[in-house]
Amino acid sequence: GRPSQNVPPEYYTRLNSSLELAHRPRANATFVILARNSDLDSTVRSVREVEDRFNTRHHYPFVLLNDEPFSDEFKRRLSAVASGPVSYGLVPKEHWVQPDWIDEDRATKGREQLVSENVIYGGSVSYRNMCRFNSGFFFKHPLVQNYRWYWRIEPDVHFHCDVNFDPFLYMQDRNKVYGFTITMYEFDKTIPTLWGHVKDFMKLHPEHIANDNALGFMSDDGGETYNRCHFWSNFEIADLEFWRGPAYQDFFKYLDAQGGFYYERWGDAPVHSIAAGLFASKDQLQFFEEIGYEHNPYTHCPKDPQMWERGKCGCDPARSFDYDGYSCMRQWDRFMGL
Ligand code: GDP
Ligand code: MN
Repeated sequence: GRPSQNVPPEYYTRLNSSLELAHRPRANATFVILARNSDLDSTVRSVREVEDRFNTRHHYPFVLLNDEPFSDEFKRRLSAVASGPVSYGLVPKEHWVQPDWIDEDRATKGREQLVSENVIYGGSVSYRNMCRFNSGFFFKHPLVQNYRWYWRIEPDVHFHCDVNFDPFLYMQDRNKVYGFTITMYEFDKTIPTLWGHVKDFMKLHPEHIANDNALGFMSDDGGETYNRCHFWSNFEIADLEFWRGPAYQDFFKYLDAQGGFYYERWGDAPVHSIAAGLFASKDQLQFFEEIGYEHNPYTHCPKDPQMWERGKCGCDPARSFDYDGYSCMRQWDRFMGL
């Protein structure tokens, strides 16, 4: 077990009276979902589940973002399942498309290389746009701008347990920055030069490196090499101010200028994770054991029988990804001293 990060009983909501409901504190928080019009069915299913398992008791808002205008049908069906206000935003071109200064010949060669190595999305430009947007821009969107906290949702994900506490308030109370449910190794072929640039950045900006950071989770040799452990960013509950702050802003600008989002295929997951690991203290990172979550092909399911029962979890704890060979949970436990 990993008792030290478990959410304590006082965070569990009691729904005894309408008075309590009306006076329940709320965080300045929203769900954020990036989706295409073609993701309609799967996005509705994800929102339906997050509502049933959590939001029907809170009515937090949803921000839906797309690089194309959402269709009327998309808005109608999505708004029908949400219990909080929903807003639909267009991603500005300058936050989405491949910048002019990217050397297209080099980018094409990079894509061909990854296709030849059978790397997933290796040949896709739109996937690269998406990863760069999620790394550097989503928190600047006008519809997201006024929020402090967000919970990232994707089409086709599953929430397997009742979330009977408010993770936003928990993060806020505990001064947390980044919450995750699944951690694993990144494909080395997508980020061949990333860690070299990270090391250069650390030398350039030592002032951004947090005391008591989580470098030891990501590197087994004191920072020389990256062990490729990262948080799976299709689920994130995190502090938007962290991404907007000087450390991450300098970091993203530095990485973006290297062109690796296009010459290689840097994901927002390793970029966010490395930043959270370096610019926050390790106590500001939160593993949400309680939140049963699935994004194909992996599921996190609470192992602790009491937690599993209390959450009315529909997942099989024996199949939880946590101790799969490809999971980084062992590194996390060791690093956190659990
Ligand atoms: P995977 O989880 O890495 O396999 O990638 P996904 O296909 O799930 O994409 C990640 C997220 O970005 C999902 O929320 C998608 O709906 C969204 N997404 C991916 N590509 C695009 C795109 O071209 N346009 C828009 N609007 N959303 C996209
Ligand atoms: Mn996905």
